[in-house]
Amino acid sequence: MLKTVTKSGNGKTGPIAVTYRAGAHHTFATCPSSCALNPHGEHAAKLIDKRYLRALRKAVPPGGIAWTYSHFPAEFLPVPAAGETVINASCDSPAQALAAVRAGRPATLAAPADSAERWPAKIEGMRFVRCPAETSDSVNCGNCGKGRPLCARPDRDYVVVFVAHGSRRALVGQDTAGGCYGELGPVRLQWEATRSSGAADDSAALVRFARSLPAGSMLRHHVVGDIGRAV
Ligand code: SF4
Repeated sequence: MLKTVTKSGNGKTGPIAVTYRAGAHHTFATCPSSCALNPHGEHAAKLIDKRYLRALRKAVPPGGIAWTYSHFPAEFLPVPAAGETVINASCDSPAQALAAVRAGRPATLAAPADSAERWPAKIEGMRFVRCPAETSDSVNCGNCGKGRPLCARPDRDYVVVFVAHGSRRALVGQDTAGGCYGELGPVRLQWEATRSSGAADDSAALVRFARSLPAGSMLRHHVVGDIGRAV
């Protein structure tokens, strides 16, 4: 199930196009069961939805920019190609992020809530740079990187770090499953609405949506949700 928003009202993303993706039977069903932040792994996907992934890769606004994040293992994600959606490997440790970048995938790191003072950092020669929207109220995805959002740069030589936020932030970096910022609050409400009334043929809806956006638009896929095949 797919929910599309032409102009987000979210302060973090800024007024860009966004999507939400959920399963029809469970909100977390498009997320990988292996994700450490997922508190409902028993309802989550074991496999990538290949049809949806094909649609996602080409779902770029005309002349625009598109990016997203996936918690599936980096080696299962496509290496970025010109003109396609940039799919970041969402990683849970610096070691995972380093491996992803070395394997040609742009990476982000979900860092524990108490690690804010640690960043920026250089680990094994790789720079780890905090998302600028986390440290400045005037930055959002729409103006990040002066029109070239950091997360949409496929060939960057640094990892973007997100310090845990949301009411479940204490679980990020812990052994207990959970910590997803979509578990509670307004994001969860939007995600539930996606499950109950989003577009059922998410692949077709996504391609249509991307094509319908004004030339030069930015599109951030999956404020919450992932590329899994919902069961
Ligand atoms: S680094 Fe930039 S593009 Fe990525 S989430 Fe932060 S503001 Fe958005």
